[in-house]
Order: sequence, then C-alpha cells, then structure tokens
Amino acid sequence: MKLIFERSTPGHCSDYLPKSDVEKAPRPEKFLRKAKWMLPEVAEVEAARHYKELADQTFGVVSGFYPLGSCTMKYNPRLNERVASFPGFTNIHPLQPKDTVKGCQAVIDLADEMLCAVTGMDKITIQPAAGAHGEFLGLLLMKAYFDHHGQTQRTKMLVPDAAHGTNPASAVMVGFDVVNIPSNANGCVDVEALKNALGDDTAGLMLTNPNTLGLFDPQILEITSLVHEAGGLCYYDGANLNAIMGQVRPGDMGFDVIHLNLHKTFSTPHGGGGPGSGAVGCKDILKPYLPSSFLGKDERPEHSVGQVRSFYGNFGVVVRALTYMLTLGAEGMREASQTAVLNANYLMHLLKDVFPVAYDHICMHEFVLTLADIKKETGISALDVAKGLLDFGMHPPTMYFPLIVPEALMLEPTETESRQSLIDAAEKYKLVKEKICSAPDELRNAPLTTYIGRPDEVKAARNPILRYEE
Ligand SMILES: *Cc1c(COP(=O)(O)O)cnc(C)c1O
Repeated sequence: MKLIFERSTPGHCSDYLPKSDVEKAPRPEKFLRKAKWMLPEVAEVEAARHYKELADQTFGVVSGFYPLGSCTMKYNPRLNERVASFPGFTNIHPLQPKDTVKGCQAVIDLADEMLCAVTGMDKITIQPAAGAHGEFLGLLLMKAYFDHHGQTQRTKMLVPDAAHGTNPASAVMVGFDVVNIPSNANGCVDVEALKNALGDDTAGLMLTNPNTLGLFDPQILEITSLVHEAGGLCYYDGANLNAIMGQVRPGDMGFDVIHLNLHKTFSTPHGGGGPGSGAVGCKDILKPYLPSSFLGKDERPEHSVGQVRSFYGNFGVVVRALTYMLTLGAEGMREASQTAVLNANYLMHLLKDVFPVAYDHICMHEFVLTLADIKKETGISALDVAKGLLDFGMHPPTMYFPLIVPEALMLEPTETESRQSLIDAAEKYKLVKEKICSAPDELRNAPLTTYIGRPDEVKAARNPILRYEE
C-alpha cells in the first residue's frame, strides 16, 4: 500500500472555506519555521481512503478470534465509547475551576469506590497511564513507606519466574534489587525458596494470581503471611482481573497494593500503544504516599510521592471502565469472570489432544501450550504454528511467554467468545497441526496471505523508522 506521503500531490486539498480576506498579522521571526514543512497534500477522499486501507490491514477484536494470552482482548461494548464521547467529558479542560467539572469528579469518586469494592483495597488512584506505569507507582509507594519508617535496608524485591516481564523491570526502575523466586512442579510459587529468600532486606513480593500460566496459587494466604512476617509488603499485579473479578479479592488474599489494567478487564480497546489506565489501589497504610489528586475527594496526601502523570491520567478510560461496571453490575461482573474461566477451560479441553498443555490442571482465564516435543521431532516451532494461524484469519496466541515454558503458546479466549467460536478456532488449530506433517514448508514460510510476512522483529524494535523520509 502507498504511504499517505506517496499519495500526495502538491496543491491537492479539500478547501471548503473561501480564501481569507483579512490581512496576515506579522509574526515574529523567531517563531517562523526554518525548514519546509512536510505534510501530505491530499483531497479529503484520498485521506479517507488512506485510513480505510490502514484499517483493513489491521486486526482487532472485531476482525476475529484474538486469544492473545495475558492481554485480555475482549470485545469492548460500544456503549462505553458512546458514554466516553459525551461532550461533558470531552469538551472540558483539566485546569478549569473544580466547581464546573463536578460530574467528572463524581465519575472518579464512583470508579474509586467500585474498584475498591472489587479489589478489597481502601483507595484507588487513576493517575498511571498503563499497567507498567501502575507497577512503577505501586512500588514507589512501597519505597516511600520504607523510607518514611526508616527501613532503607529493605532493597530486595522478590519476583517469581512466571512473572510478566514488566514486574522485574518496574522494580529496577524504582531502585530495588530483583530476586528471582522459582516456581514448583505445579507452576506455583516454591514456598521453600520463598522462605529462604525472605529477610530483613526484603521490601516485598510482586505476584500475579492467577499467574501467567493461568493457575491460581492455592498457598496464597501462606505466601502473603510469610512476606508480612518478614516485614515486607505484597504487590499484586492485577493487570488481568478477568478470572477473579467478583470471585475473590486481592485485598482479602493479603495484598497491600495492586494495579489494574482498566484497558484489559474493564474493557477499553488496547494494543498498538493506545491510551490505557493502570489504576493503582492500596490499603490504608500506603494512602499517605499516593499522588496528589486534583479532582478526587482527597487533597494532596501528607507524604505524597508526587505526580506520576499530568492531571488525572487517561480520564476517558476511567469513564469506559465505570460504564462497564455500571452496565454489568456486581452480578454481571461475577458472571463475566465465570464465563472467562469456563471458556478458557473449554478451549483447553478442545486443544489438549492437538498440542500438549504445559500444566494440565483446571485453568483460570488462560492456559499455556508447549510445542517443545513437536519442535524436537519435526523442527516446527511455536513461532511457525503462530504464523500458520494467521493464514486461517485468526490472531495468534502469545508466543514464548511465560519464559519458564519452552516453545510456549499462551491462549486467553476471554468471556466474549461464544462456544461456537471456540469450536471453530480449535478446528483451525487442528488444520495447522496437520500441516506440520503434510506441508511443513508452508508453515516455515507462513503467513502467506497477509500484507507482511515475517518482519525482522528485533530490527523493527531496535531501529524503528517512524518518520517519512524523502
Ligand atoms: C499486560 C500486563 C502488564 C503490563 O501492562 P501494560 O498496560 O502493557 O503496561 C503487566 N502485567 C501483566 C500480568 C500483564 O498481563
């Protein structure tokens, strides 16, 4: 496809307004552009066609099955978009007087109240812009707590080996030393290894439960008590609340601070770097360190770590999350998580004779397949299978994560898929499996039907070219 710059023809535009007959005001020299500006010159219809063509090339939840594990690519109700676009929400300025934005304040306060009820926390801040940003703030609260209590020797952050990569990265950003805690044979935290790692230097533990293998840790209460007995705090990575929303609460599991990805469980379209919200919740002991909030009921907390983002964070995402919660209600949220878990187990059951399951237990919202044996026997990798799925019009699952499973494919179907869509998906996985024997070269070269085949992903990440150059 042509870039919009390649569609450009000098002088082309759609001008609906007559030429201005007002004399141009003089502009100070220092503000004048030195180089020629580079904007494409196209008529409106060309611009519209350009974006339509781009939209046709992308794959979203409305294009088809999108079981990208750990990302919760659920269908996001259009009602959320409608409400988020109300002029009362979009035509305001963050600096206008508080009295004039009372509705927005009510949204923030009600979202705070409802998210506290769902998570068992005492206070929520909506400032962080995404999950990893929420982790950063959550850990900053822990650090501020220890600094304030004169426990600066607590520098070690314990992170299980099944953790999302952002967990150790956030811990390092905040200045903690990461200690890796291995998983046991069941894919859960090795409690003996945890005990050995705990001590006077422990700041805390970061845990995802259910973890990235889709397993709920049955020893969770013992784990959080052990950390507390050692004087540490417990951080809950609640990026995906899809398995537990309305069932159990991180606050009741013994966690002191959490982040939620409102753009995952609480239904905002995401991927491609769009706006998110990594709302952070904490227990009362960490409340004095929260960022100052302009709008919420509370004024600047006493020992605030300061702002982590301008103003109120991505407010539109909070409006969507609140709309979602109010639409479903407590009963609906419970049903959503039950269906998410049921769907994951149903799909796992359909697939377990096609590709081996890494940990063959009842799963939560997601599960992990391993193609290690298949790779050994046939040379076909998890990557080849994932690429092969693209030719069947499906988004591949998450690949090579969690790191503790070799040749991993991680699937999270979410609650918004029907039983028939899961059956259809499983059929396509079977067709790809058959190709391993019947057409291995086709898999090695897949995808054959998409715009782009196999890009050099490392090069794309290390050397991104984001600007058109003539
Ligand atoms: C998605 C995810 C994150 C990171 O969230 P971002 O919004 O992408 O920064 C962290 N932890 C887990 C378990 C996740 O699934």
